[in-house]
Amino acid sequence: MKTVVVIATGGTIAMKYDEATGGLVPAVSGDDLVSAVPALKDVANVEVVEYSNVPSGHITPKMMLEISRLADKHCEREEVAGVVITHGTDTQEETCYLVGLTCKTDKPIVTTGAMRGASATGPDGAANILAAVMTAACPDAVGKGALLVLNDEIHAAAEVTKTHSTSCSTFASPGWGPIGHIYSDRVVIRRQPLNLQRIHPEALCEDVYLLKAYAGMDAYLFECLAEKPCKGLVVEVFGCGNMPLPVKAGIELVRSKGIPVILSSRVHAGRVVKEYSYDGSAASLNPADIIMAGEITGQKARLKLMAALGITQDVAELRKYFDN
Ligand code: ASP
Repeated sequence: MKTVVVIATGGTIAMKYDEATGGLVPAVSGDDLVSAVPALKDVANVEVVEYSNVPSGHITPKMMLEISRLADKHCEREEVAGVVITHGTDTQEETCYLVGLTCKTDKPIVTTGAMRGASATGPDGAANILAAVMTAACPDAVGKGALLVLNDEIHAAAEVTKTHSTSCSTFASPGWGPIGHIYSDRVVIRRQPLNLQRIHPEALCEDVYLLKAYAGMDAYLFECLAEKPCKGLVVEVFGCGNMPLPVKAGIELVRSKGIPVILSSRVHAGRVVKEYSYDGSAASLNPADIIMAGEITGQKARLKLMAALGITQDVAELRKYFDN
């Protein structure tokens, strides 16, 4: 039987209600999570690695890179079919994306979690772990990049995002849809995510920021960043690349300090394109100054920039990682 390694990091899946504080807190180990799912014994030999037990808001990009390397290390073992990472849902799409971007293996690395704590009525964690292990053990999941499994759906790392604060069907891939589904007896994958990118920096570049444009935004935050040791900036602009004029001026100011700027859209599907030419459109900025993020969200563009800046600071070289 195949081996699947489960790396436990925490999240709601590993939380229980705590009388004293009146809310969910970390309470359940990776071993506890796996032993609560007896059906796993028919799918794979499951090995548990306790990485952390923290809410996903405490997971940093540095930890994501460590998790990626840990997953790679286990995937080098011949008997290991794939890796599952249990993780809070709040930043799960970020860990899934960074792991997929930086890992070396082609074996499936699957993140999962839960929207209901282990002490809830009808917790979803056990079913999600089973579905994730089935996916990690499935030969069709090889070469699909990192995957996120929740609510019996399989999503590609670059496409998935959290869409609801509490629903068990919170993860969706707007504009794309899931690449597959998990049924009681099988995993069905019907789509190959293309353009799977890999970046292998020694370390991630820190001090990379993300700003979201809003109606009436002024240049104040850009002025602050221009004074900070800021190494890179992602701006989530409107629609297919438009922004208020002070945002355009702010981007120009940041660029004048040599800081690379990536434009992504605050809309959750589609890419930034040079559709308009009026003042405040993407095309009204000096093309040498900006890099378009493609279809990825701002939070993923930021992680990609952190990884790419670990390789090069050259804007033309950086552009190749994004504009493809
Ligand atoms: N706050 C939790 C976390 O991200 C949410 C969850 O796991 O669903 O750790």
